[in-house]
Amino acid sequence: VRPVLFATPAPKTVIVTHHKPDADALGSSLGLYHYLKLKGIDAQVISPTDYGDFLFWMPSNEAVMNFEENPEEAIRLVEAADLVFCLDFNSLKRINTLGEHVANSKAQKVLIDHHQDPENFDDYRLWTTATSSTCELIFDFIVLMGDRNLINKQIADCLYAGTMTDTGSFRFDSTKPSTHRMVADLIEAGALPHLIHDYIFDNYSLNRTRFLGYCLNEKLELIPEYNTAIITINAQELKKYHIITGDTEGFVNFGLTIKGVRLAVLIVDRTVKVKLSFRSKGDFPTNEFSSKYFSGGGHFHASGGESTLSLEETREKVKKHLPEYKHLLTD
Ligand code: 5GP
Ligand code: MN
Repeated sequence: VRPVLFATPAPKTVIVTHHKPDADALGSSLGLYHYLKLKGIDAQVISPTDYGDFLFWMPSNEAVMNFEENPEEAIRLVEAADLVFCLDFNSLKRINTLGEHVANSKAQKVLIDHHQDPENFDDYRLWTTATSSTCELIFDFIVLMGDRNLINKQIADCLYAGTMTDTGSFRFDSTKPSTHRMVADLIEAGALPHLIHDYIFDNYSLNRTRFLGYCLNEKLELIPEYNTAIITINAQELKKYHIITGDTEGFVNFGLTIKGVRLAVLIVDRTVKVKLSFRSKGDFPTNEFSSKYFSGGGHFHASGGESTLSLEETREKVKKHLPEYKHLLTD
């Protein structure tokens, strides 16, 4: 990709990431954005949708274009681009209708991602599931370009954030020695772990905290037979607690904090469709389950999907298919 990237004049470059970007999606995009800037490339970051305000602190957040707010401009940029980076997603479906424009763009496409079975829409690829995060792959990319010494505080803050969240604060089994070595470099370059942790995890509204309490108290259903915990949230509850984008992020993980639980499910009625999140420990393949039954996908231990059934029917569908996996959910 080097001849395309460092051609003169500089290629018109767009960076896209998945809808409702999380810290890995946005951190990898902005980390790459800052690196390209140092190399004389003024890239445009496009998010298919809005995202949670706990990410607004990221350096150059204000430069991110929201496709839903600026569809014509975003499409024009994608169509005119020489180079499109596709970060932290494996399927064009994950960037909504922006996907058609990326598919049809004459630009060279560079996929940098860590999700299983990527579609074939790219020209260049830095891909493996054996990494902690797309942020770690951006770090690898910069190192491969021979530019490790260019990693500054802005890049380091962005890459630290996404690695921290995608590894569950460095506790999932995706956390490798290379992850900690990279993090050491990022801290040396100026990333401040305690502040980034604070921005992301200690930055909730009172409503969100109370709503979490309500969900754990009233909405969590434990199914001991399958070591499964399910939280179901309906549209009225979202409204009553003034829940906004990003507020339910992380709720699903609480199911897994219960002793013995191997599968945690969060089901939220997002009005147009019902959204599901799955997290597991051990041998339960959440991505297989979500792709088989909920048109979704993701990683082995963390994935998501959707459903056009009602909220109740969706929950019943999850429960109906648990027996097929009993051997993986129990001893
Ligand atoms: P979350 O539960 O936090 O929304 O998503 C967890 C992981 O599952 C994400 O990293 C993403 O890769 C994947 N994921 C979530 N929703 C979907 C979906 O609707 N389709 C696919 N293919 N993957 C999803
Ligand atoms: Mn990721």
